[in-house]
Amino acid sequence: MKIEMFNVGWISSSAAIWRQGEDPNQRIRFPVPAYLLETERERILIDTGLHPAAVDDPQSYYERPEAGLFELRLERDITAQIDVGTLTHVVLTHLHFDHAGALALLPPSVPVFVQRSEWEGAHDEATVRRNFFYPRDYQALDDRNLVLLDGDHDLLGDGSVTLLLTPGHTPGHQSVKVGERLVLGGDVAHFSATLDDKRFPVFAEDFSAQARSVDRLRQLRDSGITVLPGHDPGVLRPGPLTT
Ligand SMILES: [Zn+2]
Repeated sequence: MKIEMFNVGWISSSAAIWRQGEDPNQRIRFPVPAYLLETERERILIDTGLHPAAVDDPQSYYERPEAGLFELRLERDITAQIDVGTLTHVVLTHLHFDHAGALALLPPSVPVFVQRSEWEGAHDEATVRRNFFYPRDYQALDDRNLVLLDGDHDLLGDGSVTLLLTPGHTPGHQSVKVGERLVLGGDVAHFSATLDDKRFPVFAEDFSAQARSVDRLRQLRDSGITVLPGHDPGVLRPGPLTT
């Protein structure tokens, strides 16, 4: 299987938002990755990255004042980096704007795989507020080929790509195991160090569930599997990945 990481853009903000205990005046800039998995027959996009219009003016695009806490910069949106016309699957690790934002730019016929608990949370007002979900990112999914999952899922039926339910950061966050040697962890851990220090962002659906999901991914890492963090600028490099 061919695996490639793309960087669709950058988020800059106070480091303390993303890693508890950091100096609030310290700023951090980190990449927003998306991944393409390709076999002879399948082209699977893992996360979509940012929507260009949201990057231009997040507060008016989302009609949410806190969207201005982040400075967004586009590298190139996902449609400029891959041929989205031949995708066979879209997997969303979760529904945050930096993962689901560009969904609206993808062909509506491609099936989109989301955990049911994520989808239900994204339609509950209190959960939406608590998780900083922006419904504009996923409202178009109502008319799409949406596949809701209840836990771990063998995506292609041959064990080559397994979606792992890793909740906590959001209600139904999922990570993606590719082959036997690689896990795309998503935002269970923003940084590689988070797998050991559990210094999470200041917000989460459920910190103790997130800690259990970290334990799950850390065990995989300790067994020799590469676990990629969600947004670690020191670790994530666009380009082909080997497993
Ligand atoms: Zn993220």
